[in-house]
Parts: sequence; C-alpha cells; structure tokens
Amino acid sequence: FEVPIAINEPVKNYAPGSPERKEVLDMYKKMYDSTVEVPLFINGEEVKTGDTATMSPPHEHKHTLGTFHKASKKNIEEAISTSLEARKNWAIMPWEQRAGIFLRAAELIAGPYRAKINAATMLGQSKNIYQAEIDSACELIDFLRFNVQYMTEIYAEQPESTSAAWNRIEYRPLEGFVYAITPFNFTAIAGNLPTSAALMGNVVVWKPSDSQVYSAKVILDIFREAGVPAGVINMVMGDPVMITDTVLASPDFSGIHFTGSTTVFKDIWQKIGNNIHNYKTYPRIVGETGGKDFIVAHKTANPKQVATAIARGAFEFQGQKCSAASRCYISESIWDAVENDLVADINSFKMGSPENMENFITAVIHEGSFDKLASYIDQAKKDKKAKIIVGGNYDKSKGYFIEPTVIVTEDPNYKTMSTELFGPVVTIYVFKDKNWNETLKLVDETGIYALTGAVFSEDRYALDEAVKALENAAGNFYINDKPTGAVVGQQPFGGARASGTNDKAGSKLNLYRWISPRMVKETF
Ligand code: GLU
Repeated sequence: FEVPIAINEPVKNYAPGSPERKEVLDMYKKMYDSTVEVPLFINGEEVKTGDTATMSPPHEHKHTLGTFHKASKKNIEEAISTSLEARKNWAIMPWEQRAGIFLRAAELIAGPYRAKINAATMLGQSKNIYQAEIDSACELIDFLRFNVQYMTEIYAEQPESTSAAWNRIEYRPLEGFVYAITPFNFTAIAGNLPTSAALMGNVVVWKPSDSQVYSAKVILDIFREAGVPAGVINMVMGDPVMITDTVLASPDFSGIHFTGSTTVFKDIWQKIGNNIHNYKTYPRIVGETGGKDFIVAHKTANPKQVATAIARGAFEFQGQKCSAASRCYISESIWDAVENDLVADINSFKMGSPENMENFITAVIHEGSFDKLASYIDQAKKDKKAKIIVGGNYDKSKGYFIEPTVIVTEDPNYKTMSTELFGPVVTIYVFKDKNWNETLKLVDETGIYALTGAVFSEDRYALDEAVKALENAAGNFYINDKPTGAVVGQQPFGGARASGTNDKAGSKLNLYRWISPRMVKETF
C-alpha cells in the first residue's frame, strides 16, 4: 500500500457560463428550497432528542434551512462511553485502512460532493462561492490528503537498532478519547479537528459551532460514506457549557482540539486544571484562538499592493477569519496613494446574498456579532479619535449586513487597534516615515495576540528589521502578501501568545499531539 504524495486540490474558478457555476447554483437552490433535520450522531446512530434549534442563512434570517437536535447530559455520557468501546478496534486497525478511509473522504469531496459542501457553506455560513471553494472544498481536501502523508512519515520514524537490541516505537493513540470543538468560520477546520485526531487512531466527541451545523452535517455524512466506523467520530450539538463540563468530567478525557475564542479556551484550560486529579493521563491541550492581525507598510512599499492586501485581508468573508487584517500601520508618505486605491477597491465590492456570484461581501454570522460590530461602528462615528473613511452603514432587516468599514485613527492605542472584532472593520494608523523602528515596537506590543501579520517594503534592510522586531508577534508572518489564506502543505497555520498553542494545523507538529508513543526495546 503506497500512500500517494499529497497535492493541493486545484481551486475551481466558477467563471460565468462554467459548468461548475451552474452545478453549485442549482445545488444552492435545491438546498434553499428544502429543509433538513440534523440529529446528533452517536455510536453510528442518528439520535433525535426533540429539543431543537432552527438554522437560517445569515443573509436571510427569516428563511429556515431546518433544525438541529440538542444533546442532554445523558447523550454526551453515552457518546463518551460508546466511543471508548469503538476505540478498541479503531486504535489497532492497520493505519493503511485509516488512511484509506480519509483519502476516500477527500476524493468524495473533490468529486461528487463538492457542489453540495460548497452550497451548504454558502447557505449556512454566508460565504461567497470563492471563499467556500477555498475552504470547504480545497482546504478540507488538503487537510485530509496531507495529514495522511504526514502520518505515514511519522510512523516511518524509528530509532536505531543494534545486533543486540531491536528498538521500535509504537505510535499509539492517546489512552481515552479526544474532544473537538470547531468554529463557524471554516468548514475545513470543522472537518480537520476531529479527523486529524481520528486518523492517528483516536476516537472523538465533536461539537461543531451552532452556526455551522448545516455544513457540519454534510461533512459528517461524507465521513460516514467514506467508511469511518460507528463510534469513532460522534457529533453532538447543544449547550456548550453543559457539553464541555460533561466531557471534562470524564476520567478518559485525553485531549482537546479546539478552534474558537481565547476566553472560552482559557476557561476550558482552567477547568481541565481543576479536574487534573481525575484524569488517567495528562490531557493534550491544542487550541487556535483569537487574533488581531496586522499589516505594517514601510515608506518603500508598493501602495497598490498594500491597498489590495488590506482590501482582501480585512474583508474576505466579512473579516471573520482569525487571520484577518484588522490593524494597519501605514507610512505617511505612501498613505494618500494607499487610501485612494483602498477606497476605490472597497467601493467596487458588491454586497448581498451569495447566490449572486457578483457579491464579494455577504452577511456576518449572526445577530450577536452584527450588534457588537454595529456598536463599535457607532462609537467610532462619535469618537474624536476615529474617522470612518469608507463604509459605516449596516442593516439587519433581511440579513446581517455590515458595509466594509475603514476607521482611521491618530491614536495607535485606540480600542479598535487592539480589540478583536471579528467582522468587516479595519483600523488604520498612519505613522511618520522616520518612526519605522518605533512603529515595529508598537506593532509587537499592542494587544495580546500573535496569529498572523504582514510587512510590506521593497527595502531588504527594512524587511529584515521587521522580521527581527516582530519575531514573536505572529505565528504566520507574511512578507509582501496579505495575512490570510494559508495553504495546507505550504504554510502550516497557527499562532502563539493569546492566539493559541501554535501546534500548526495541517502539519506533523499537530499530528504528534494525538499520539502517545511506546518505546519498545527487545533484546536478542
Ligand atoms: N487558515 C486561515 C487563513 O490562513 C484562517 C483560519 C482561521 O480563521 O481560524 O486565512
């Protein structure tokens, strides 16, 4: 059995008149016109509890996509106990078979289910087709393919043996089960967090975000069709605090794979600490959390390139990426040129429902997010320290629409320069050309996060200064490129400081966290 060398799934372009555009739009319409009921999935069974919540497209919140069922404490306990039963076979299954299952899942997404998973992400999370394609199709496929390759590379790593002793490492899964909590903003992350642990032989209790259940169900069905056995990946929805507390109370809890907010992650870490005497093993804690990602542009930067990076980096998927540019530092002498191009770019963006493929901007995820963003925008309108140069309007009558908004401030410590907003709002501070080094220090010292960041310059010395000064300011650092859009196998993704444990998603580093090796020395 030879595992194919992983290659990145090519991005389709959905050009007007293309068959893939027609296929995804037909699927979108079909799914829009029907409703689904999403049960819990425990031990290979669909479980309907009768306690349900409604799902709606963020761009059309009065329309119903269906309902999902919410778990009780008993359901969660059952998911845990049956997963531990399933572990007995899964953990000892030859790795070739586990690889085969997940490679099959990748090919199902690449082929027959591509339109469905993209349409589900467009409807449920309001991604435009291009953002859906790079996420729910390409990135998820890449995670599955590359993780399989990395797994085989890890398993091949063996110590030296001698004529007197055979030394071997057994790459066993963790003793217990893994808990995966996944966010709304990437269907690929929802797919990756449970499968990367499962691939290494673990069983998983997976809680998708309430705002992503619609596409999570599509992924789950693909995993089932690909042959993931009963009990290996269980999907549960419902009250997050109850679910987490029930999971963390189990002595067999052996790790968490998390993407979400810093506050929730720290809270979970603390709860794990409080329970530490109850666990059989030290749980692995792996999390990717918040960000307040920067763009810093030197006076030698190409203004057009900087403007494009801000427009794309801050407003793709309405800025709802952990990696989104949200604080920018621009050198005074290039600011006018950057501003002209940026405002022109933003004015060319169309906003509306994703079924119209001209729309670059769609809605933000839910009312809570909309209200929070609207209140920051309102404050900026009143504040003397802030000036909105483009955008600033919002409307939630049909969907949660917020115009892409640019705030310029003279105060580098203005609150939107350090607070994570997670929406289509970017703040810009213009610095004096001579203050390059002070500005780099400011970029490093502002806020608590270190996820992504980008520096723009055509001066090699200035770039070197930035690379050095910002060494700890971003886990994914970009030179003359926007800070979003990391590609699996090319730029492993993850941040440090309050942005996460930096166990790079889609890399060997991440997969090592889901194994507990046994070293065996056998003497001849
Ligand atoms: N990996 C994504 C990117 O590079 C961001 C993931 C996230 O938002 O958590 O844009």
